[in-house]
Amino acid sequence: MTTAVVVGSGPNGLAAALHLARNGVDVQVLEAADTIGGGARSGELFVPGLIHDRCSAFHPMVVGSPFWTEVGLEDHGLRWRWPEIDCAHPLDNGDVGVLRRSLDETAAGLGEDGRRWRLALGDLVRGFDDLGHDLLRPILNVPSHPLRLAAFGPRAVLPASVMARWFRTAPARALYGGVAAHAFTRLDRPLTASLGLMILASGHRYGWPVAEGGSGAITAAAAAALGDAGGKIETGVRVSSRADIPPADLVMLDLSVAQTLSIYGDVMPHRVSRAYRKYRTGAAAFKVDFAIEGDIPWRNPESRVAGTVHLGGDYAEIAATEKQRAAGVMADRPFVLVGQQYLADETRSNGNIHPIWSYAHVPGGYSGDATEAVIAQIERFAPGFRDQVIAIHSTGTEQLHAHNANYGGGDIIGGANDGLQLVVRPRLAVDPYSIGVDGVYICSQSTPPGAGVHGLCGFHAATSALRSQRAVRR
Ligand SMILES: Cc1cc2nc3c(=O)[nH]c(=O)nc-3n(C[C@H](O)[C@H](O)[C@H](O)COP(=O)(O)OP(=O)(O)OC[C@H]3O[C@@H](n4cnc5c(N)ncnc54)[C@H](O)[C@@H]3O)c2cc1C
Repeated sequence: MTTAVVVGSGPNGLAAALHLARNGVDVQVLEAADTIGGGARSGELFVPGLIHDRCSAFHPMVVGSPFWTEVGLEDHGLRWRWPEIDCAHPLDNGDVGVLRRSLDETAAGLGEDGRRWRLALGDLVRGFDDLGHDLLRPILNVPSHPLRLAAFGPRAVLPASVMARWFRTAPARALYGGVAAHAFTRLDRPLTASLGLMILASGHRYGWPVAEGGSGAITAAAAAALGDAGGKIETGVRVSSRADIPPADLVMLDLSVAQTLSIYGDVMPHRVSRAYRKYRTGAAAFKVDFAIEGDIPWRNPESRVAGTVHLGGDYAEIAATEKQRAAGVMADRPFVLVGQQYLADETRSNGNIHPIWSYAHVPGGYSGDATEAVIAQIERFAPGFRDQVIAIHSTGTEQLHAHNANYGGGDIIGGANDGLQLVVRPRLAVDPYSIGVDGVYICSQSTPPGAGVHGLCGFHAATSALRSQRAVRR
């Protein structure tokens, strides 16, 4: 029987383990932390009964992931909850851009930009699953839906700054810009339009749901499926060198490029280690979790029922702060994402005390305290918020790294999303999962299709590993 060791139990480690186990491989997962799940973990932080998402919060790409759909996480205990509004982007003058699951309702709310919103997104929403099939995998592949890809191409290659000009009104521009900023990069760079459009399209196709009971329910369901397939998980085992990895036919690394290099660099072919050394880390997050009494007193009624609220002012302001951040400068008013998961999932609250999730975009390696900047951004659109706060838990870049060794410098997306690195990760190769060492694969978010809890990096890496095993046996 083929054996495999998977290092790391993030969504991609679990997906790789599950795909291997379901194909008859004897799989053991080694996880450094005491709990499984990597970027999809949740639990109490400071108030009993209050469930906080430690990292990921909203999951269109889990609901829409062909791999998780095939696994059927819902058969292993996962339940989804949808907020009334997926995302609100309030502006200083009281206007607001609102993303609803329905394309028509979103367009209707955007006034004179409604028709343009539909033109920009309508075909992407209708063809989302086909397009996803081609985009959510390595770039060097023959597309299954070339016409859809060709239609998306001219929009995808644009900088988000050009795409934003397609819209005429401030709310539509800001709504698009806030979502495009999820790329964590300057918005005036080629290809940055693509991520914003795809995340918006995913919202119209699947909504932006939360997992009942916290994001940890997603990885708990994946772990349950893995257990059913015979896989085993050991927590509290940190892999620092090859000596820590038990002998196995296959080794799957749910690790950053830097960790992969430090463990296997001396035995990798020179061309691979050189590419890994050139791989650039991304921007960082500064996370702030709150326990608050009552609801956030947003000025806009829409923000009061939105799962996600984007705070960063109008498009021009977001573009400017992202540019500043990319240059290594901490903005006075950084782009902040606020999550009100409890509005969709009341199991996370304790009576009238609710958990609030938020993070600011900060420069890579930022060592300051962004807590006040986050609070000020919320106060800007919800005066009186500060008075409702009962407890605060801030997680800076160093603590993020301590929490997960993949998050060097606070980079939560596994490497910069700019230039070609957006699609060519961690190096240009027919098989980007191979690290050039027999039987060893990198399967983390530093590989295609990149960050998110979709599990597709792990699935594709495991597919590649199985293919090579079959070739060896022939
Ligand atoms: C604040 C924040 C918000 C986010 N929001 C969202 C969101 O809303 N939606 C979404 O889809 N995605 C979101 N993400 C991104 C998402 O969490 C990641 O893209 C995803 O978790 C990546 O999965 P992974 O398996 O590649 O790696 P990880 O989730 O990082 O898992 C890696 C695992 O490996 C373990 N590990 C690391 N080093 C070692 C070692 N040396 N030995 C043993 N084990 C090791 C770690 O402890 C971890 O458990 C967010 C991330 C953060 C941090």
